[in-house]
Amino acid sequence: MNSTDVESAVMMKNMGSTSNGAPLFNEEMVRSELEEIVGMDHVSTERSDRLVYSCDWFWLPQMWLDRGERMPVPDYVVHPASPEEISEVMRIANTYDIPVVPWGGGSGSQGGALPLYGGILMDVKRMNEIIEIDETSLTVTAQAGINGQQLEWALNEKGLTLPHYPASANCATLGGYLAPRGSGTISTKYGKAEDLVLNMEVVLPNGRIIRTPKVPNHAAGPGFMNLFLGSEGTLGTITEATMQVDYLPETRLFRALLFDDLSDAIEAGRRVMTGRLDPTVIRLYDPTETGERVKKILGEELEGAYMVIGFDGDEDLATLQEEKAMAIFNELGARDLGRKPGEKWWERRYDFYYPPQNLKFPWMYGTTETVSTYSNCKQIYHEQKRAVEEGYPEWDIRYIAHFSHWFHWGTGMYSRFLIEDPPDDPEEAIRLHNRVWNTAITAVMENDGMINEHHGVGLKLARFMRRQYGEAWPFLETLKDAIDPQGLMNPGKVGFGR
Ligand SMILES: Cc1cc2nc3c(=O)[nH]c(=O)nc-3n(C[C@H](O)[C@H](O)[C@H](O)COP(=O)(O)OP(=O)(O)OC[C@H]3O[C@@H](n4cnc5c(N)ncnc54)[C@H](O)[C@@H]3O)c2cc1C
Repeated sequence: MNSTDVESAVMMKNMGSTSNGAPLFNEEMVRSELEEIVGMDHVSTERSDRLVYSCDWFWLPQMWLDRGERMPVPDYVVHPASPEEISEVMRIANTYDIPVVPWGGGSGSQGGALPLYGGILMDVKRMNEIIEIDETSLTVTAQAGINGQQLEWALNEKGLTLPHYPASANCATLGGYLAPRGSGTISTKYGKAEDLVLNMEVVLPNGRIIRTPKVPNHAAGPGFMNLFLGSEGTLGTITEATMQVDYLPETRLFRALLFDDLSDAIEAGRRVMTGRLDPTVIRLYDPTETGERVKKILGEELEGAYMVIGFDGDEDLATLQEEKAMAIFNELGARDLGRKPGEKWWERRYDFYYPPQNLKFPWMYGTTETVSTYSNCKQIYHEQKRAVEEGYPEWDIRYIAHFSHWFHWGTGMYSRFLIEDPPDDPEEAIRLHNRVWNTAITAVMENDGMINEHHGVGLKLARFMRRQYGEAWPFLETLKDAIDPQGLMNPGKVGFGR
């Protein structure tokens, strides 16, 4: 997949569903071996099942399907029930040199779970048990295929919460939170999924089942758990994880502000973060998104940069933190819109991701979310916006952005482009889509940003990884080769080939 952008996308469509030219084997034989491991009911080669697993939430496969085209489908859909079964599936994959793609909820937006080379699609959702809730250490240990919302409901019954709140919790899995290093709405206080994990069990490409040390913050050798965070199924299958949980907060305070100037608003967020005021959330919309989306939430016209800030936990402490933040906002000339619009935003924060408000076909869109330091983020925003809006005068492109995951050193920017009337021809559409992506990502890399904050790389950003990492890329490739010498695990993703 390292030819030109368009070629790679077209090639992907044309690769078809058969296996990858590996050693000769009889498909029925492999199927019966898989059935021996997971049971007859848990292996499928039905056309309809295979088609279902040919599309995740990446625009590209959805666009192909929307236009009646086919994506590569897996040869076998397998539903293992334990790490031991996955280990045995890997033995078969090694014997016959068959690619394996782990699949959680299929809600990933980067094409990470697409079976580009056919092979075995390993859906881990049968592994959905909660193994232990430790109410002393505040941890939960669960199998990786558990649905995020189900896990949350079980914790809520005990007054606890896993403070990773992605908009996709109801359609994603625990393993799918960790494999692409996801972020949720309240990551600014509680951290990303990767900051909440204590340990994991992983089945390696050679079938070996390993566990990382019980706690992550130790000094007994290298922290190799990090290898699997962000590996997106290319280095192994996560089968279990222990996550840090929290008590449900006594209070959650939200407040909305309006800034005339986006730069002042970013500066306000920076001062709150570097002042260690510990906000639960800072959500800052650029003026375009304020005019479009925020208007839909609040039902009123607003001009400027709209910000929601939240604090949670002990009521007195949260109130004090909010007061200190408000002093910063006043100093920077923000208008205080009060609690109501902040609370409304919290209630309706996921509306835009689901019907009827979600992006839909035949629209062309891309979420070019990124992360950078405070020194670079404004430049990236302005450069990306200018390059996308001005680069394609023949197309009516809209660009919107918000800043949603804040760190002590910088912030994540969730930017999007949208073309409501794209080319009808799918190949022309892909060409345009790739060009706009190149433009948007180039603006990030030229200004020292990282090409992604939380969706992961998958197929979508794979072609940028070599440039993103420079001299460090061959080092990552060497690691991949050492762990997965046959290139079985999720080939074509994260920039690793087959
Ligand atoms: C409506 C919507 C809203 C979203 N909002 C957010 C958000 O707020 N924050 C966010 O971070 N993301 C968000 N996403 C993106 C996506 O849902 C998340 O990345 C999610 O965590 C993916 O989980 P999944 O189980 O669906 O993974 P999948 O899509 O099944 O897989 C994603 C990648 O992880 C690999 N993988 C899955 N399970 C395992 C495993 N057990 N072991 C090894 N590799 C595995 C797959 O091979 C693939 O590469 C959103 C997506 C949608 C559709």
